Amino acid sequence: MPTYSLTEDQRMILDLAESFATKEMRPVAAQWEKRATFPHEVHKKAMVAGLLNVVVPEAYGGPGLSYLDFIMVTERLAHACVGLAGALSLNNMIADALLVGGSEEQKTKYLGRMLAGEVGGYAMTEPAAGSNVVGIETLAVKKGNNYLINGSKTWISNAPVASFFIVFAKTDPDSGHSGLSAFLVEKDTPGLRLGNNLEKLGQKAFPAAELFFEEMVVSSEQRMGAEGDGFSIAMKVFDRSRPMVAALGVGLSQRCLDESLAYAKLRTSMGKPIVQHQMVGSKIAEMGMRTEAARLLTHQSADLLDRGERNTLQAAYAKTFASDTAAWASSEAVQIFGGMGYSVEYPVEKLYRDAKVLQIYEGTNEIQRLIMARELSRE
Ligand SMILES: Cc1cc2nc3c(=O)[nH]c(=O)nc-3n(C[C@H](O)[C@H](O)[C@H](O)COP(=O)(O)OP(=O)(O)OC[C@H]3O[C@@H](n4cnc5c(N)ncnc54)[C@H](O)[C@@H]3O)c2cc1C
Repeated sequence: MPTYSLTEDQRMILDLAESFATKEMRPVAAQWEKRATFPHEVHKKAMVAGLLNVVVPEAYGGPGLSYLDFIMVTERLAHACVGLAGALSLNNMIADALLVGGSEEQKTKYLGRMLAGEVGGYAMTEPAAGSNVVGIETLAVKKGNNYLINGSKTWISNAPVASFFIVFAKTDPDSGHSGLSAFLVEKDTPGLRLGNNLEKLGQKAFPAAELFFEEMVVSSEQRMGAEGDGFSIAMKVFDRSRPMVAALGVGLSQRCLDESLAYAKLRTSMGKPIVQHQMVGSKIAEMGMRTEAARLLTHQSADLLDRGERNTLQAAYAKTFASDTAAWASSEAVQIFGGMGYSVEYPVEKLYRDAKVLQIYEGTNEIQRLIMARELSRE
């Protein structure tokens, strides 16, 4: 938990998030994991509780929480289930993209629709271009006031239930970074086809699918910003979404610590609780220390955003450290549980599976380290 003081308002929203996570998410996490579909019922309850779309400013009808509050809420939801938390939190990233790159009309329309319960998708990655954003091959060719879009996307989270997508496409294939543009695309646009749910290792309640665009016509009014603004929008969104992924990692690491400690106090071996064996105690100490360090880095990356300062370096630090910590802590949690750690009867095998992708999405941790080196060597 943070070592600094929280305001009364922060305490209230965090208590609400913690209680929702404990009562409405944790008991159903395994069920949604098995169903491997978007958790509609949990989503509806979270909406009633006021825990969705929390970054949408009051001016657009949202709760207007600060980024720090948002990531502290996300951490608490992720403690219950990082897959459910991801499915519920992704709309905040869509809201960020709208706030960063949308026109007033687009903000009012799409933020309003999300506040009314709709879900959006963020369609950047393609089969041949993930880390290499500039390598995107989906093409948007201008035809009068419209664009003709052809191409495909993969790994688009919440795509099976999204009613609209932010789609990144090349409007000028020869212009590198400035050849990318972003479009708001309705799910029932002729020429847009949704692929099947992609089967995955973990975070199964946070579904992902492919999208295909075949001669899809989108009007210029659906473009976000000017032609060529896509790359700059995407990079600004990453600075906001990476603290969110870091918060998912912090919540998961805290859960690993809590589960490991409880088990290690109860389980005995060679005449004493295993927590009293130094090698087990040391793992738990390390888990506590790394989780707290990840939390502080994550809070820092969000606080900079709240103060309107550049946080690219700190967002990369937080995302990388928190996701590496989650992957490490979940592996150690399985180890502390011994054979039971490998059993689906206990919670830690799911934590282990859920943690891995945090090192991959929102830019892999290798890409984050490239960003850190670049940011650290800036003049
Ligand atoms: C469950 C899940 C949900 C996702 N949700 C979304 C979503 O909603 N929207 C979306 O657009 N995308 C989404 N993604 C895609 C995700 O962002 C990409 O998978 C990720 O950016 C990596 O891209 P890639 O898979 O093409 O891997 P690649 O780019 O092919 O990378 C493969 C490996 O090479 C390394 N590598 C690549 N380039 C370099 C380099 N220059 N230097 C060093 N190492 C390098 C990578 O770090 C990685 O280890 C999701 C992915 C998953 C698995």
